[in-house]
Amino acid sequence: LLLIYKDVKNLKIVAKYFKKSIMDSMNAEIISIGTELLLGHIVNTNTAFLSQKLAESGIDVYHTSVVGDNPQRLTAAVKQALARADIVITTGGLGPTVDDITIETIAELIGKTPIRWIKNHVGTVPGLVIDWKEKMIICLPGPPRELEPMFENAIIQCISRARLNVPYAGDGRGSWIIKSRTIKITGLAESVVNRAVKDLLELKPPTTVGIYAKLGQVELKIMSKAKNEKLALAAIGKIEKKIRAKLNNFIFGCDNETLEGAVGKILTTKRQTIAVAESCTGGLLSSRITDVSGSSKYFIMGLVAYSNPVKIAGSGVDIKIIMKYGAVSQQVARQMAKGIRTLVGADIGLAITGIAGPTGGTKRKPVGLVYIALDKKGRTPLVKEFRFKGSREEIKFQASQAALDLIRKNI
Ligand code: ATP
Repeated sequence: LLLIYKDVKNLKIVAKYFKKSIMDSMNAEIISIGTELLLGHIVNTNTAFLSQKLAESGIDVYHTSVVGDNPQRLTAAVKQALARADIVITTGGLGPTVDDITIETIAELIGKTPIRWIKNHVGTVPGLVIDWKEKMIICLPGPPRELEPMFENAIIQCISRARLNVPYAGDGRGSWIIKSRTIKITGLAESVVNRAVKDLLELKPPTTVGIYAKLGQVELKIMSKAKNEKLALAAIGKIEKKIRAKLNNFIFGCDNETLEGAVGKILTTKRQTIAVAESCTGGLLSSRITDVSGSSKYFIMGLVAYSNPVKIAGSGVDIKIIMKYGAVSQQVARQMAKGIRTLVGADIGLAITGIAGPTGGTKRKPVGLVYIALDKKGRTPLVKEFRFKGSREEIKFQASQAALDLIRKNI
């Protein structure tokens, strides 16, 4: 191999091999190397990271694989990947130890070829990029804390310049850009969101929309490829408008915005204060509210009213109501919300009571049954019943999410 040591910033990408234009989709294949991955000793987060980043860049991934530290099997995997993908990315096996076989194996396979070394700013082992017969082979170090910045700071540029068939001049001349915006929705099932924006989900490049279901929320990701940022953002804006026309009430934010952040913004703007009494969420709601910097302006108190005596003494629930309806009931939730609000003189009182499971459920009151009440000065109190599914942690999170959404909609 002919080794060329250069920093990626100074590279003139040998893009002449890449005849595809931005609108043609390129495809990449990821091969993770390491016997410890095959044994299940470590989880393959590198593939998840790379798949996500490549998708964000509009590059399709049709195959991923894992091979142990074995030259024959790695050779076979790389050969197969080169036969069907434009870009082959390997992770791991780059270090100096005997089980690090990536470079030797690939060198053996492709022969004398120029290599571009990619500086590793976090660790010692550099990554490498090879242009080979109209293909690109990229080898990245195994540790995620080395691979992730290397991919984001250097590799993604190599790939986009190459696919655009434009030498990397450093001034962005002739380059296309890809912009995205994630619209975050809560309070609706994925199937309902899917139905509402079905036509948008069928859009083809240059502007596309993807749907992603997460715990307690659904995300719509709009991606647009265009000649400049203004055009890409204009195309995204058009689609966002259509999404908002259908789902506006359920949208709480975009990109890095969080539900607790959105609630904080509204409480601040409306100069309202809040106090919270939580049972089954055990303080999670208070914790999420206080994750937001500046929450001291509006968050007065969080009480974990886990036991019945605390529900009675701390949040003013009538013992007779607990006896009659049980601790997990609309009536108790309503009294807790009012009790905590009046205790500290907040504008809003919020209470959660439910069964997080996996034990403690009955036929009439199954695991996942949660009541959330909101008591606002001068307004009729609100109580909502939810039936969440999932593990204990998942039910707790969904309850905190529903509580935040109830606050968001009723401030
Ligand atoms: P080093 O010089 O650190 O050895 P390397 O490129 O040779 O770098 P490996 O030896 O293959 O990397 O892996 C080093 C460590 O990186 C592993 O022990 C593991 O903790 C982590 N790692 C490797 N591959 C993956 C992967 N696919 N996903 C997540 N972590 C990984």
